[in-house]
Amino acid sequence: MTAAPDGQLPLLLERIDRQARERFGLGRVADYIPALTDVDPRQFGLAVALVDGTCHAVGQADVPFSLQSITKLFTFVLAFRSEGDGLWRRVGREPSGAAFNSIVQLETESGIPRNPFINAGALVVTDILTSRYAHLDYALLGALRRLAGEPRLYWNARVALSERQTAWRNLALACFMKSHGNFDNDPELVLDNYCRQCATEMSCLQLARATRFLARGGRGDTGDPPVISADQTRRVNALMLTCGAYDGAGDFAYRIGLPVKTGVGGGIVAIVPGVASIAVWSPELDTRGNSVAGTWALEALARHTGWGHTGF
Ligand code: GLU
Repeated sequence: MTAAPDGQLPLLLERIDRQARERFGLGRVADYIPALTDVDPRQFGLAVALVDGTCHAVGQADVPFSLQSITKLFTFVLAFRSEGDGLWRRVGREPSGAAFNSIVQLETESGIPRNPFINAGALVVTDILTSRYAHLDYALLGALRRLAGEPRLYWNARVALSERQTAWRNLALACFMKSHGNFDNDPELVLDNYCRQCATEMSCLQLARATRFLARGGRGDTGDPPVISADQTRRVNALMLTCGAYDGAGDFAYRIGLPVKTGVGGGIVAIVPGVASIAVWSPELDTRGNSVAGTWALEALARHTGWGHTGF
């Protein structure tokens, strides 16, 4: 794998920052969670956390944004760490090819969601963690604060409430899985946890740091024990590559070729194993719910550094 030549990464990021902003106006901010529309759509941030501990950032990389589905990556890591392969009894690991909040496959697949990154799968993961932690919301926040090295992280209470008050489809998914025996807790309780989780805010810089362990075989920034094993890390990255961008996952693999996780807040995290973790954010989304300028920026970064398409 090639890295950007020494000293050229900051210049490349500045160019990408300028050109990404030319994509403003080509997408739409998510509005099915009303409070998400509060954001100024014309923003772009990009941060690259290299495995040696250095970070490079451009644009609004220090502005906190709503992580939304990116939190599914962290809850999946927590559940995979505690359940191991037993997790796969409750959720699959195949791309869905359907919208992130689709209920269609659940009907034909007996309440077992395709993967942990679509809403149904993430709800099962949050159900598992709700059984494990007395206060999952604070347990998750604690884990994220440690990973990001930022003790002031929090969820946005207004966004959490706005999603909770309009979460009919997610409630339907949870109730449907409950009827199939694939849900242990009260769906309303799990929804409370899920909406707080999704409303967690981080900046690109914090997110790139918080996911650096996925580029370092599971080892975090401190001398603490690894977050997950090297073997589990490979599997998390594989799942991100195949399932991390909803029904756009194939297109992402084609254009970028890196493990990613996207969210409807406009954030995307991408992993370059052994090299770097990348966080990019711009609120306007394409029709599949992925950031327009963020996707473009990752494609440009992968092309100019040679970071994508590992092993092809
Ligand atoms: N909280 C959002 C939902 O459940 C997350 C969706 C996303 O980011 O893809 O609809």
